[in-house]
Amino acid sequence: MQTIRHAAVIGSGVMGSAIAAHLAGAGISCLMLDIAPTVLTAEEEAAGYTLAHPKVRNRLANNAMAKLKKMNPALLYDESLASNIITGNLDDHLHLLADVDWVIEAVTEKLDVKKDIMRRIESTWKPGMIVSSNTSGISINKMVSDCGAEFQRHFLGTHFFNPPRYMKLLEIIPGENTDPKIVEWMSRFCEQKLGKGVVLAKDTPNFIANRIGTYSLLVSMRQMTNYGYSIEEVDAVTGPVMGRPKSATFRTLDVVGLDTMVHVINNVSDLLPDNAEKEVFQVPVVMQELVDRGWIGAKHGQGFYNKVKGSAGKEIQALHPETFEYAAVCEVQSASLNAANQEKQVGAKLKALLASDDRYSTLAWNVLKPVLLYSAEKLGEIADSIVVIDQAMKWGFNWELGPFETWDAIGLVPSVQRMESEGLTVPAWVKEWIRAGNDRFYEYRKDKLFYCHNNEFVPLAPRKELISLSVLKQGNHTILSGSEASLIDLGNDVACLEFHSKHNEIGTDLLLMIRQSVHEVIKNYRGLVIANEGRNFCVGANLKDLLMLTQKRDWDEIDLYLRMFQDTLMMLKYLEKPVVAAPHRMTLGGGAELCLAADQIMFAAETYFGLVETGVGLIPAGGGCKELALRISRHNNNVGTDIQPELDKVFETIGMARVSTSGYNTKNLGLMRQNDAIVMNQDFRIYEAMQVVLRLEQVQDIHWRSEKFRVAGEDGRAVLQLAAFNKRYGGYISEHDQLIWNKLAFTLTGGSVPARTWVTEQYMLDLEREACLSLIGEIKTQERIRYMLATGKPLRN
Ligand code: NAD
Repeated sequence: MQTIRHAAVIGSGVMGSAIAAHLAGAGISCLMLDIAPTVLTAEEEAAGYTLAHPKVRNRLANNAMAKLKKMNPALLYDESLASNIITGNLDDHLHLLADVDWVIEAVTEKLDVKKDIMRRIESTWKPGMIVSSNTSGISINKMVSDCGAEFQRHFLGTHFFNPPRYMKLLEIIPGENTDPKIVEWMSRFCEQKLGKGVVLAKDTPNFIANRIGTYSLLVSMRQMTNYGYSIEEVDAVTGPVMGRPKSATFRTLDVVGLDTMVHVINNVSDLLPDNAEKEVFQVPVVMQELVDRGWIGAKHGQGFYNKVKGSAGKEIQALHPETFEYAAVCEVQSASLNAANQEKQVGAKLKALLASDDRYSTLAWNVLKPVLLYSAEKLGEIADSIVVIDQAMKWGFNWELGPFETWDAIGLVPSVQRMESEGLTVPAWVKEWIRAGNDRFYEYRKDKLFYCHNNEFVPLAPRKELISLSVLKQGNHTILSGSEASLIDLGNDVACLEFHSKHNEIGTDLLLMIRQSVHEVIKNYRGLVIANEGRNFCVGANLKDLLMLTQKRDWDEIDLYLRMFQDTLMMLKYLEKPVVAAPHRMTLGGGAELCLAADQIMFAAETYFGLVETGVGLIPAGGGCKELALRISRHNNNVGTDIQPELDKVFETIGMARVSTSGYNTKNLGLMRQNDAIVMNQDFRIYEAMQVVLRLEQVQDIHWRSEKFRVAGEDGRAVLQLAAFNKRYGGYISEHDQLIWNKLAFTLTGGSVPARTWVTEQYMLDLEREACLSLIGEIKTQERIRYMLATGKPLRN
């Protein structure tokens, strides 16, 4: 196999179109085929079309494409990527499959329909072409039982979770005749190029995550039906306090759709050979009743919850299953829940929750223990290792801890004792493991993770692409350590600067650590990666400190902070070793400016990048304005074009505090250079950034020396200020916005100088600092900062 450049998706429904969007985002051109309709719609008839018209024949895939473009949250990384998808129908375009490297079947979940599709794909199959099915639970082997040996060798299950852009899990299910080399190759390809978290599943009903996840949801639901807990009570316990998503049990069911859930539950139940297990996979009466009434969850508007218009706006109500009426959601509180919520780490939360003996502690134990036991029972049958099961649940259901990690967190030995004292059967292999003197399933030894496999501790096979800063720190690879950041040795003589302040905000300590790191890298390392494992890369400057100084009217101190910020980023920029920033998720304000100072940015696909300072009444003053003015000037001077159009675009991007909707989309905001890159798998970003450092090190003199550049001057400023005036006149921005925009215009164009004046970087930095300082003194800016700190949202006063 070389690589996959062209793919086809058969079926353009929920999953087919979402998979096509994800492939398009990964740069793979994608053919999307559906059925050719046999009946005209009223509109088609009115337009005079016949069934032979291409618009009719491709209607299903075309409609799916139109819907795809409007999806919110977006399934495409950028709307322009839609051009990577070509639509068609199976009757007219089946022959086009001969030109693709991978065909993914995503049609209705029915064995006979899938078997028929496989026969059709096989009729066009050429050697080397990979074919996979996105089935959620139908047997992979049965689906191709009528196909030839070579086709079967190239066939496997690739079970994406919905929506593929956001859900990391991909279950790969080899059939009994699939070539192991193809399984291995596809696993690597999907990890690297599609950014997936791949687990190998066996061809069993509903595979891994849906088998255990559905079991867990049913167990939680039964607590409501059998023990009288309310919907809110079950959700209060089975959500974040247990390390599970906010949607907990019933909101998750509503989002997935109760009709879909019924289908999934029945599928497992029909396929299970074991009667006792069949018992568990029965659709609860309440759920069936809701489906019968058509109250199937979010897509219908109501399910276990209902959103209604109340006197104070929208109100969420919860179902009372005894009466099938809805009432306002009640707040749930208890000593055990409060104790758990005080804790930061999920393990400590769980321990606190289980330590009590109140009603919710009992509920937590009763929903947890069956899932732990079931996961242990199914080991070997559905997956080969505890790691695979844990990863599947984390990536597919957004659990913070998988079942075996949970078991470690709450204490393996005491929890097994408690289960046995309650008369439960604990799988023999777990008892044996404990008898052999073990009290956990995972163990760090130095910086290596070991896990229980066939009753032995075995090391997790190291993956060079997976660099974990926390593991490196445990293994004494820390070079420098401060309260807000650390410098860590990544190996290959490359260092990594990691932020770890509360929201990764940029405070003085963090700036000091950057400066120390620069000195250390100059002396002892080949280059620097800037990356971290926080929820977000960096949300910008520390606004709390800034507001405090403002209240004290300590303008000198603020000036000092801004100077220090600017100087530090200049040190990074002119560090004579390569610097590569690897941002992920929110990278805002000062965090974005910091990245702009790097030689290259390796954006994670899910990066939301923006200079958002106007949202708090300021303009970028860490070198952001200067850096963009310089880039625009150099770029246009090199090719002899007018700088104004690019300047206009960046002016609006900063003025409106626009944030990119993905790494890819950052290009459209004018904040990405040609040499910046995107890494699809966020877990690989540090490794990929390190590779870039090593490559850049080979290139002689990669650094620009600080040279003068030309600015747009007063002529350019007039254009920008006119744009600000028009926006104000049109009612799009407030009076205070206009003041900010005018200062931004002044700064970006180099102040009161004629057009095409040569300026230095320091001159521009002084301009942006002065503009920012003058804005901090404004009451309305201070109101914006206060509002942002209180609500996390911008105030447009
Ligand atoms: P869907 O009903 O939204 O879409 C099915 C599509 O298949 C429709 O566009 C339909 O026109 C098309 N189709 C039906 N028969 C066909 C045929 N003979 N030839 C070509 N196209 C045909 O279903 P979906 O939710 O997209 O599910 C598709 C597959 O993905 C199923 O196997 C399902 O189990 C699996 N899956 C679904 C989800 C989910 O959350 N929806 C998640 C993972 C896997």
